[in-house]
Amino acid sequence: MTLMPLHRPAAGIFIITLLCAVFFSRYAMSAFDDKTLTVVNSHSWKPFAFVENGEPKGLLIDYWRVYGEVNNVPVQFVLSDWNQSLEHMTEPGRKVHAGLLYSSSRDHYLDYTLPLFEISSSLYVLNDSEQLKIKGILPGMEVGVVRGGYEEEYIKYHYPDAKVISFNNNAKLIEAALNGEITRMVIDTQVATYYLSQDPDLHRFVPIESLYTNMIYAAVSEGDQALRDEIITGIGKIPEAESARIEQKWLNTKQVFTIPNWVLPLVLTVIVIVALSYILLLRQTVQRKTRHIKAVNRKLEEYAFTDSLTGLLNRRGLEQKFETKKIKTLMKNQQLVLLVIDLDYFKQINDTLGHLKGDEVLVCLGKAFKNTLQEAVAISRLGGEEFCLLLEVKSRHQLDTVMEYIHRRLIPSASQHELGLHVTASIGALLIDTQKTDCSLDMLLHHADQLMYRAKEGGRNRFVIQSLSSKTKQVRPFCVVS
Ligand code: GH3
Ligand code: MG
Ligand code: MG
Repeated sequence: MTLMPLHRPAAGIFIITLLCAVFFSRYAMSAFDDKTLTVVNSHSWKPFAFVENGEPKGLLIDYWRVYGEVNNVPVQFVLSDWNQSLEHMTEPGRKVHAGLLYSSSRDHYLDYTLPLFEISSSLYVLNDSEQLKIKGILPGMEVGVVRGGYEEEYIKYHYPDAKVISFNNNAKLIEAALNGEITRMVIDTQVATYYLSQDPDLHRFVPIESLYTNMIYAAVSEGDQALRDEIITGIGKIPEAESARIEQKWLNTKQVFTIPNWVLPLVLTVIVIVALSYILLLRQTVQRKTRHIKAVNRKLEEYAFTDSLTGLLNRRGLEQKFETKKIKTLMKNQQLVLLVIDLDYFKQINDTLGHLKGDEVLVCLGKAFKNTLQEAVAISRLGGEEFCLLLEVKSRHQLDTVMEYIHRRLIPSASQHELGLHVTASIGALLIDTQKTDCSLDMLLHHADQLMYRAKEGGRNRFVIQSLSSKTKQVRPFCVVS
């Protein structure tokens, strides 16, 4: 079989026709299947939607990107002047307005879906004293707004006498304000904050009145019920956390409370200082209280070991003293003498001159012993009119001299001098001249008492001296002096 040779032009036309058919059929198919969602908004609505370096950016851009990802729908952005963005919505296609406020005039050509984010608008004025004096918008006053923006509608409705000056977009409006073309403008607070924050003089325009706060909605063309349903379902799939994250990123709505770096060290320093001060205070208080308790204890001890009338040691005080190292040493060195002194006929003094006078005699004698016998190892009142002295003696001769002095001079002259009374005493003196250091005070007192009674028996007003060694050897007293 032979094929008819084709003419070259006819072959060319055939091939081109074939290619066109393939191309158009693919295009038609793709146009039919295209689920791409065109998201429409402003190109100068920072921080909601804007173009930077040719790239769409902003809160609504991020939001609709997430919408596309979550719903597996290709998304393309068409950003233009605000008025144009509204006009786009009257043209056919899968178009959604990324976000805008509701108004009845817009409701004629838009079907609203769900509220997305909150937005508020304020009246901004030039920050100079003249402008700040004027509150609100007065008739005839020039007010800048974005053309086609909700603010324009709002001003025209609420301030019909104001002179509205419209700008194509927020960037132009802000530019006019900063160039001094207008002194007042109504603008979204978040948008103004964003734009003005880029001006070196941050506070050239300030908000003086908040006008309204509303939600912005996504909207589709009027009557496109299918797309509206799709958008509502699609928005419902965006996790709330994601939408909150995007809002936080662009509007910084939640004030994140961060503790400055210096706070923690300061708090710790304060805690340490307070704790140290408290410990110091506590220590001082404990020391003070301990000192006080010790003083009270000393006082109590003093009371326990002191005779309240004369201030001398009492019997317990003498016992305590007797246990001291000094006495043990003196006893060991055989240099200690124990005297028991009993006043003669003391009862008569009480009976004739009264008990108080008797007390005075005791006090007077106690003072005399303390003042005169400063070297004494112990001076005590055993009870009643009976005293006990512990003295250090280096020799027999010294003992005799001391006994003479106490008996003849000290006792009689003390009471004579102070009270005009002649008081005598009978004294038993026991010289501890033995190496025995284990003698008890009771035993020594007992011996000395016996010596004192001997002096009494001998007619009173005398002393009897005996050494412990002679007593233990049953030797009779070597000296009785009257
Ligand atoms: P003697 O010569 O035998 O020792 O006779 P005296 O009167 O001193 O002895 P006696 O034991 O008979 O009396 C002691 C008196 O001392 C009896 C008591 O009333 C008195 N007396 C005891 N303690 C005190 C006191 O604290 N103050 C006064 N004023 N008298 C006291
Ligand atoms: Mg007595
Ligand atoms: Mg007596």
